[in-house]
Amino acid sequence: MHSQNGSKPQFFQSLAYKLLRSSLAVAVVFGVFSALVLVVIDFARHRGVIDARIDNIFSVTGNTAQHAVHTLDDGIAAEVVNGLQHYDFVLRATILDDSGRLMAEYLAPDNKSSTIWLTRLYADTTREYRRELTDADGTLEGRFVMVINNDKALSPFYDRATTIFLSGFLRNIGLAIVLLAIYHLFLTRPLVSIANQVRRIDASRAQHHHQIQLIDKHSDDELGAIVGALNDVLVTLENEQDNLRERGKQLSLLLNSSPNLLYAVNQTGDFVFLNNAAAEFYGKSVGQLIDQNCYRSHKAIDEDQASKLLLSFKQVESSSRVHREMDQAMTDAIGRHHVMQVSYTPFDFYNEACVLVVANDVTERVEAEKRVEKLAYYDTLTGLPNRNLFYERLQRDVARCQQKENFGALLFIDLDEFKRVNDTMGHQTGDQLLLILSKMMGEHLRRTDTLARLGGDEFTLSMPDLASDLETAKTLAARLAGRLLKSLAEPVSLGSNEFNVSASIGVVLYPQNGEDVETLLRFADTAMYRAKQAGRNGFMFFEQSMAVEADRLVKLESEVRIATREQQFIFYLQPLFDAQTGSLTGAEALVRWQHPEKGLVAPFEFIEFLETSGMISEVDQQVFTGVCAYAANLHRQNRLPPGFRFAVNLSAKELHRSSFVDDVQLTLKRAGLPAKFIEFEITESAALLSLDDVAKKIRELQAVGIHFALDDFGTGYSSLSYLKQLPVNKVKIDKSFINDLTFDLQDEALVASIVAIAKTLDLTTVAEGVETQAQADWFKRYDNIIYQGYLFSKPIEIDEFKQTYLTEVYDGGNSGSVIPIQRRF
Ligand code: C2E
Ligand code: CA
Ligand code: CA
Repeated sequence: MHSQNGSKPQFFQSLAYKLLRSSLAVAVVFGVFSALVLVVIDFARHRGVIDARIDNIFSVTGNTAQHAVHTLDDGIAAEVVNGLQHYDFVLRATILDDSGRLMAEYLAPDNKSSTIWLTRLYADTTREYRRELTDADGTLEGRFVMVINNDKALSPFYDRATTIFLSGFLRNIGLAIVLLAIYHLFLTRPLVSIANQVRRIDASRAQHHHQIQLIDKHSDDELGAIVGALNDVLVTLENEQDNLRERGKQLSLLLNSSPNLLYAVNQTGDFVFLNNAAAEFYGKSVGQLIDQNCYRSHKAIDEDQASKLLLSFKQVESSSRVHREMDQAMTDAIGRHHVMQVSYTPFDFYNEACVLVVANDVTERVEAEKRVEKLAYYDTLTGLPNRNLFYERLQRDVARCQQKENFGALLFIDLDEFKRVNDTMGHQTGDQLLLILSKMMGEHLRRTDTLARLGGDEFTLSMPDLASDLETAKTLAARLAGRLLKSLAEPVSLGSNEFNVSASIGVVLYPQNGEDVETLLRFADTAMYRAKQAGRNGFMFFEQSMAVEADRLVKLESEVRIATREQQFIFYLQPLFDAQTGSLTGAEALVRWQHPEKGLVAPFEFIEFLETSGMISEVDQQVFTGVCAYAANLHRQNRLPPGFRFAVNLSAKELHRSSFVDDVQLTLKRAGLPAKFIEFEITESAALLSLDDVAKKIRELQAVGIHFALDDFGTGYSSLSYLKQLPVNKVKIDKSFINDLTFDLQDEALVASIVAIAKTLDLTTVAEGVETQAQADWFKRYDNIIYQGYLFSKPIEIDEFKQTYLTEVYDGGNSGSVIPIQRRF
């Protein structure tokens, strides 16, 4: 602790000197006063002495003087007066006779005195004494007159007074020296020593237990008390300082462990304080950044953001109010972009007006929000608006056209046979191609147009405000549709492959007498469907007549909903026979719609619709549940031949459902049917959607006893190579090959090779759609062949099936008297 005036006190400022000065002043005042009293008393006394002496002189000389006047002897008179010269204070002495004649006179020589001035102050310089000279009778005979020099008379008094003053003065000097020594020894020196010790304490250093040493022989006096008190203060201060240091440490730990950027800048924009997060942001250490200009540091990263930062500082400085930025873009030293929530607060830092900045990184939240928005409104593959966003845009476009009395167009674009690309080249290639095509289409759009992907290979396009009259709008829409088709038709290279994609486009103009967005989309969809029917790679405008077809689909949808709810879907059974033994090996369950008005409806009328609308799963499950119940019932009656299996068709959608495997086992369990009675038929294209997943599911279900058959085999494109990867038990050769088998050499060769491959893979081959004996005979040369076809039986009602084929009762193979149903072909 340095005092303001740390230097050693000068002698004249020292306490010893000041004490000495006061003591001396008091001593002098009292000395002078007592001396004065002494002198005054002495003075009074001395006057009496003078008078007594004069009396004495008169009495000594009186007789002689009497004699002289009595005898009138001037000589004696002269002797008397001259005898007085012995007294130096006698100025004049005269003796007069009774007539007043001067008989004798003595006059002292006039010699000046140095004290005359003093005498004049309080007394006459001369004094006259008379004595009547009388004879014995008292008769006056003469006078004796003496004038004395008062000054001279007082000179012994003066001498004494001088001595008194002088000795007083000397005593004071002595006293001063002694006091000075005492004061110095007992006060100044110990005080200076204390002051020096206090001064030597360096509070900034973290050393502990400063103590001021007690001064010898002063431990129990006031100095000791001062030292004690100082030491107490020191202890308190040290404790306080420890607390402060500890608190400082905790505070900086707190600030530094915060992920938020925290810093303060002064009015020149220099950093006066930063936490670690802030320093890290600027890619430097805290030490390097202190006193550096914040604006320039940020400018080194991003100039625009730096000016925004500066603007915020200025705003706080001018208004001295807290200023907040919700989503401020900030780039850090290594070029990462952040979105920050920043608050700028006026802040007094060691008496300097500063701005405190707290920046909270909200990048993740903002990105999550963007992602959510993207997911909700954008297609993940192409980045185009999705169905939701498109609905909103279309609604807005229609409303605007209505208001401005303009016409706009809605295009429904469906790529032709795109499924084939997916099936043959895999989904990744399909996705890549979709991305490229969506970009190609995007190039033809105006800023106000919205292109969206509804899903799969379906795109929609809304073009508002084409023209104010219908004909022009129609021409412009047709022109654009033509351009899109032309651009899509251009070959696209992807890796080593080249793709030629075409599309079918349905166009509807809006506003259409106030139709809503959904209806417009349905109209456009219908027109697209017509374009496809008309031979693909073209576009078609929607016409009211088409609405009939659109209506049919809408009606179908609601009917199917009712049908699933009311279980109108039933199944027929078509038997399968072993080609060699002619024994019944199983039956395929084929769905039928028991329509309340139309009667029995065949699958071709509704399967495609069910697949596209996603309702197929529901129907597949209903069929499977029905098959299980039917089979379980027969099984309980022991009417199922050994090895007999019900073949159930699975759509891609059902096969890919995540809980499919569990659901199948649950259904079996509920029905009480062993899995060995079931076989699932899957198509190649369904399996190829996700080969690994499907293979895994097949294995899981095979493990419990279910078999799998690959349906419609041969219609795919790279079937043979995939066959190895799908752990199926059977292949079903598609009936289109069987049809021409006997007269088309190419088909014959194909079927022959399929059977051969199946044999090497140890698979059973099912010949599907066998209608003629010739076709059946063709297979005779092979073993492990199963027949299915009209030649043997059409799909029939389940009751009929039971009565025709499952009348026999088996005892589980124990009696040996089993005669399985057999047919000879
Ligand atoms: P698919 O799986 O190929 O079934 C065989 C189809 O061929 C059946 O037609 C059957 O009646 C027919 N067929 C059998 N033998 C002959 C023949 O000798 N000549 C001719 N011309 N046809 C024959 P269906 O019952 O009309 O079924 C058509 C398609 O509907 C099935 O083809 C299958 O893909 C689908 N399907 C049927 N039931 C279901 C089902 O429950 N779920 C699913 N997802 N699809 C089903
Ligand atoms: Ca089938
Ligand atoms: Ca088939």
